[in-house]
Amino acid sequence: MAVIKTALIVGGGIAGMSAAIALRKIGVDVHLIDVDPHWRVAGAGITITGPTLRVMAELDILPDVLAEGFTADGILACDHHGHELARIDTSMRAASGVPGAGGIMRPVLHAIMTRRLKALSPRVSLGISIASMTQGDVAEVTFTDGTSGVYDLVVGADGIYSQMRKLLMPEVSLPRYVGQMCWRLTAERLPDIDRRTYFLGGPSKVGLNPVAPDAMYMFLLEPSAEPLRREPAEELERLAELMAPFGGAIATLRDRLDSTAQINVRPLETLFLDQSWLQGRTVLIGDAAHATTPQLASGAGMAMEDGVVLAQCLDDETDFAAALHRFMERRLPRCRLVVDKSLALGRMERSSGSPVDQIKVVESALAELNGPI
Ligand SMILES: Cc1cc2nc3c(=O)[nH]c(=O)nc-3n(C[C@H](O)[C@H](O)[C@H](O)COP(=O)(O)OP(=O)(O)OC[C@H]3O[C@@H](n4cnc5c(N)ncnc54)[C@H](O)[C@@H]3O)c2cc1C
Repeated sequence: MAVIKTALIVGGGIAGMSAAIALRKIGVDVHLIDVDPHWRVAGAGITITGPTLRVMAELDILPDVLAEGFTADGILACDHHGHELARIDTSMRAASGVPGAGGIMRPVLHAIMTRRLKALSPRVSLGISIASMTQGDVAEVTFTDGTSGVYDLVVGADGIYSQMRKLLMPEVSLPRYVGQMCWRLTAERLPDIDRRTYFLGGPSKVGLNPVAPDAMYMFLLEPSAEPLRREPAEELERLAELMAPFGGAIATLRDRLDSTAQINVRPLETLFLDQSWLQGRTVLIGDAAHATTPQLASGAGMAMEDGVVLAQCLDDETDFAAALHRFMERRLPRCRLVVDKSLALGRMERSSGSPVDQIKVVESALAELNGPI
């Protein structure tokens, strides 16, 4: 039986929904709030790894993800002309039956997760946030709409620019820009793109990943000393320029670019709380505690694992403090690994590091992440 009865979850993204699902499954009374009155997500694609698919099984969303996304084992690494360099094994030896890699559109994943959550009947309040909080034996919270509540646990899952982190740990620095802009383009899947495919050794790192039988997305990491803000009208032209040095499937996609292209571009930022994510009755999870750059495609997976491990610890331990202590012991090293290795890969990409060395880092990190959570 869980050592708490009630939990407030601040933020209904991947981390918050995962925690809400996992806590409802062990009988906790969950109240989830999200500041967005429409509870929306960006329309970009997302890459998922074997460990992410494994935690999706824990959340009972794997069958829907398999049906509505795309999965295939392995990563194909090519040079920037599109010639094969290596095949990276991603099979999940630790959990048979789970594919080793995949992709899905974010809004599709969001819909799957909200469906799963709603079936567990949590209380959901949209368009509100926390106005103030006092913590003692319980957390007493006032919301921005003037209502209030009392909870055994508060979960701060409000993303990279977390207001909860600012409230609890005002001394923590803001997220840091890492010198790369991430472009994403949604497109019709090309028949020969049947798994995650990287194009390494060019002026940018580029990848393609199917997200449905008929759709894929391209990501392109543009080195840039400063975060750039461009007008939407300039984006198409700039993306075509960035794709120009590439051959193979990237050249095909470039030829098809027109004004209907679905382009999403944002600066890559990182933040890792290399300290406890706990304060009183509150714990930070997901990007609020560890926002990674996407080189290992593991940010969403780590956010989901946080929710699942939090519920496991609260269910296994007989004492609240011990449960949260155990949670930190299990999560800190694993999330640090993802953030550090992703940053290392980003540095190699920016300095045109050898594709072979990049492949080695990806392989070793994925092998470690395949271990137990
Ligand atoms: C360009 C890019 C590409 C990426 N690609 C991948 C990928 O391919 N694979 C992968 O696994 N990961 C990827 N990631 C990482 C992944 O997107 C994040 O790790 C993941 O979305 C984190 O989820 P979260 O719930 O912690 O935060 P978020 O998704 O940011 O959700 C936070 C939620 O909190 C709400 N909120 C914010 N402030 C408040 C507040 N004050 N009160 C109440 N609610 C609030 C927001 O509305 C939102 O719903 C990528 C990240 C980036 C930037």
